[in-house]
Amino acid sequence: DCIGIDAGGTLSKIVYATEAEYGYKVFPTGNIQEINKWISQHFSDPHVQITGGKAGFFTEMLDFQTKKVNEFVATCVGVKWLLEQEQMLAKTGKRFMVANVGTGTSIHYVDGDSYERIGGSGIGGGTLLGLTYLLTGEDDFKKILELSKKGNGKSLNITVGDIYSHETPPISGDLTASNFGNVSRMKHNHLPKEDFIAAVVRMIGETITTMSVQAADRLHTDSIVYIGSTFSGNNTLKEIIKGYTELRGKNAYFLEHGEYSGAIGALMNR
Ligand code: ATP
Ligand code: MG
Repeated sequence: DCIGIDAGGTLSKIVYATEAEYGYKVFPTGNIQEINKWISQHFSDPHVQITGGKAGFFTEMLDFQTKKVNEFVATCVGVKWLLEQEQMLAKTGKRFMVANVGTGTSIHYVDGDSYERIGGSGIGGGTLLGLTYLLTGEDDFKKILELSKKGNGKSLNITVGDIYSHETPPISGDLTASNFGNVSRMKHNHLPKEDFIAAVVRMIGETITTMSVQAADRLHTDSIVYIGSTFSGNNTLKEIIKGYTELRGKNAYFLEHGEYSGAIGALMNR
């Protein structure tokens, strides 16, 4: 039995082959004994291929035979496999960007069989959890998503159109000029915490989009594949990123099971 694990800063994603298809499972990375227990209950003598920032640590802590796999290669290999499965390679083309929005964000460039890490940002899923906690005291990911859906993420921002209020703006007036920039509105209105969370989600989405679009411009591709558990059940973030990517003239793609890309790539590495 072969298992692929992507042991990230927050979540450990597990992929394994069953008779018909692949199985998917996720644990908090902190629950390593749970992971040991789950593997031993479901597999006899498994071979574990493991990637992610905690791969070395997991190699020591897991009770099974393990092999470490490079995280950036595993991520891109997994994305390519998922694109093939979902017959999306025809749309993206063989050259595309991958933005992996995990605890932090990493951006990669794929050209056929070559993979390159282009850059990254500390703005990611961890920022969503941390800023939301500071602003609202909420710390449960599912609850945060529920609240974000009900909020207006634009109400705390200033748009380019707001600044160029008396003339035609030189760039699209719909672009955000300043995330969280509308201080006077904050002072003069009681704003609900739903708006705070929606504004955090929007800031993260717009920042990641801007970074990805600039990298895509530089590498002359229009395709950006967005992955990472930050998108799990997070339609608000997906819609913001899709809209903002298109506003900037590029195409956004999301994959079912995209958050398992690293684990899939680890499983496939031989
Ligand atoms: P990194 O790649 O940066 O090491 P990671 O691989 O652990 O981190 P992901 O699993 O891709 O990162 O994404 C983690 C993010 O997903 C969290 O920061 C949070 O925003 C979101 N998330 C989704 N589901 C959960 C959950 N059940 N618990 C906590 N965070 C969750
Ligand atoms: Mg990760």
